[in-house]
Amino acid sequence: MFSTKDAFKQQFLEKYEIMYGKSFEESTLPELYNTLGQMVREYVSHAWIETNERNRANHKKQTYYFSIEFLLGRLLGSNLLNLGVQDVVEAGLKELGVDLREVEEQEVDAGLGNGGLGRLAACFLDSLASLSLPGHGVGIRYKHGLFDQRIIDGYQVELPEQWLRNGNVWEIRKASQSIEVKFGGDIQVSYGNGPLMFHHINAETVTAVPYDMPVIGYENKTINTLRLWSAEPSQFRPDKGDVMKYKRETEAISEFLYPDDSHIEGKILRLKQQYFLVSAGLKNIVRTYLKNNDHLSDFHNKVAIHINDTHPVLAIPELMRILMDEHGMGWEEAWHITTNTISYTNHTTLSEALEKWPISIFKPLLPRIYMIVEEINERYCRGLWDKYTGDWKRIEEMAIIAHGVIKMAHLAIVGSHSVNGVAKIHTDILKEREMKLFYDYYPTKFNNKTNGITHRRWLIKANPELARTISEAIGDKWIAKPEHLSALLPFANDAGFKQKAYEVKYQNKLAFARQIKQLTGIAIDEHSIFDVQVKRLHAYKRQLLNILHIMYLYNRLQEDSNFSITPHTFIFGAKASPGYYYAKKIIKLINTLAAKINDDPKTKDLLKVIFVENYRVSLAETIIPAADVSEQISTASKEASGTGNMKFMMNGAVTLGTMDGANVEIHEEVGPGNIFTFGLTAEQVLAYQRNGGYRAIEYYHHDQSLNQVINQLINGFFPVPAHEFETIYDSLLVQNDEYFVLKDFGTYVRAHEKVGEAYRNRDQWLEKSIINIAKSGRFSSDRTIQEYADEIWGITRS
Ligand SMILES: *Cc1c(COP(=O)(O)O)cnc(C)c1O
Repeated sequence: MFSTKDAFKQQFLEKYEIMYGKSFEESTLPELYNTLGQMVREYVSHAWIETNERNRANHKKQTYYFSIEFLLGRLLGSNLLNLGVQDVVEAGLKELGVDLREVEEQEVDAGLGNGGLGRLAACFLDSLASLSLPGHGVGIRYKHGLFDQRIIDGYQVELPEQWLRNGNVWEIRKASQSIEVKFGGDIQVSYGNGPLMFHHINAETVTAVPYDMPVIGYENKTINTLRLWSAEPSQFRPDKGDVMKYKRETEAISEFLYPDDSHIEGKILRLKQQYFLVSAGLKNIVRTYLKNNDHLSDFHNKVAIHINDTHPVLAIPELMRILMDEHGMGWEEAWHITTNTISYTNHTTLSEALEKWPISIFKPLLPRIYMIVEEINERYCRGLWDKYTGDWKRIEEMAIIAHGVIKMAHLAIVGSHSVNGVAKIHTDILKEREMKLFYDYYPTKFNNKTNGITHRRWLIKANPELARTISEAIGDKWIAKPEHLSALLPFANDAGFKQKAYEVKYQNKLAFARQIKQLTGIAIDEHSIFDVQVKRLHAYKRQLLNILHIMYLYNRLQEDSNFSITPHTFIFGAKASPGYYYAKKIIKLINTLAAKINDDPKTKDLLKVIFVENYRVSLAETIIPAADVSEQISTASKEASGTGNMKFMMNGAVTLGTMDGANVEIHEEVGPGNIFTFGLTAEQVLAYQRNGGYRAIEYYHHDQSLNQVINQLINGFFPVPAHEFETIYDSLLVQNDEYFVLKDFGTYVRAHEKVGEAYRNRDQWLEKSIINIAKSGRFSSDRTIQEYADEIWGITRS
């Protein structure tokens, strides 16, 4: 149906009439989106079945990527791209008077994630399928994804997200494959002749219903599966108590995504979500495995299970439970299989993000799982005792259960065969500091897998003109082998190519400026530097440092008529967790600053601040191709990797950043002349944290311009009540500036001066920009996923 334009047109019109029972002339854009989506979904179904049968017939080892978040974004455009039918569809629709872009914009982002962690999972699925690897996603089908953000009077207001309002054309409900998940109740032990038997009685049962979405590989006929589980009332629930309450509580499990990023709320519903995901996911995998295999002793050679952060870590005791209680296996063998099946990625060293569950919550909700965790802990601590006899302090620190809480990261390390960090510097910090004791005990478990992004969505789809320009210069081998982008390097000195790269960026900036004008009414100068910081709002990401610098520029421009800057548009986009008071104040500050300076006659041609509402994947796809400067300014050691930094680089933005996360590796790739770095190193930050010695107030007293901007937070400079930004002021001067904003302010100002200077030399700037694109191949998630496949999962092309 997509073989020729005419075949497509005919099928499209037929499909429309079947679906809507009216003539094409009466169609609306949402209907056209649905029609096209449905056609694509049906078109892939044959290859989907074939992929599954091929894997079954070849007894291929399969990977299941368990993640509490998948931040997919829109799927129509990337599915058309990967199927290689984009051009046919675009041309066919055009003849029908329909613009494919407008149809694509009807799709609501699938926003089942907070930020980097969930987007990583989505990029990984795309790479798994595109490399023809047998790897599938397992997650939760939240009825509401991450909240929609509105800005009202400068403040963030959250609205419930409604991605399923018009249905989801990509999913298939598979009710016949539903699974029962049990919560609460009691454990009865029976003593027979053989091993002890554990019976789970009086449990509350919930039905997990799978919804499958196809994950389409790039022009390779591979269709993998993302299986999302939805919680529904069970038919098998014994008649007890209030049925409406039961229905409400059951459906609540998959109702909302928790909106906190790099921060954990210890709510019982969250623990329920986690167990719901792993129990449904694992029972399903074991059931499928046993259809094709006689016994479970070989399970770990046929199945790899990856846990994305600790949220799915209950996969470890749950697999133990299934093997022992449901299939009669002994502890030793079950432990061997479990630990060789499961691998774990750590995403952070921030203490507020490390999961710890009080036994008082955990044990009543998951009584059998708790018994197994206790047994894992006891056997493990016995091993520790053998090696570190008498060293109580060390054992206490390494234990899974201590002081009434269960430490999920410890369980993940003990119960898996691989623990990886997500950038070199992050893995080094894990090995040398945060997880040093574990690294000493299990030296071979630890390894690094630097994150990546799919170049198909983030370059070919988001920036089609740049992709075309690249292919004109070096051919299209880079599409299958992104490291081949390095063939662009000689073109960094090619006047003709530079001019084309300039025009592509200019057109992207123009398109984004038009969108901003439409959304906000603000006119921005497309010749100005587009300096962009888009990511979740977090103290450690230091949007505040960016703001203080803009205030500094504004002051200089007001006070010194000899001072001038390269015209600059500072663009922010960020959602704050609804309960994160400080982060919400930073959003108010950005918007207050924008309102103050954007219309100031003295500065309005040189300085603009834009806050784009509701930052999400589809918005990222229009902002990033328009960026000149990529702000990656986290306090060194705090950002595990970052992936936004990679998306910007691949689109020709130059990084202004600290030596943190993957910035370090970007620096290594492009060389010091093609990135602007500043600030404390991770070692210096960690040394201050260990030894003290940082006094923020000294920087406030000694740097006159810094003193001025900090005072302006509370002295009436902004037309807001005096206490509005007191929390921010206090974080710097009363709480001694935990994230070293003041310490890094001076070097940040100087780095910005260098950026402005470099930008004024267009030729030199374009050279930097092109070198960044040329060196971005290493940050394709295809490279990352091939490393996971080879070094952790042991899976090969199907
Ligand atoms: C890539 C991405 C992120 C992660 O950005 P960082 O700068 O690495 O924190 C967050 N949100 C969205 C929508 C993204 O696309």
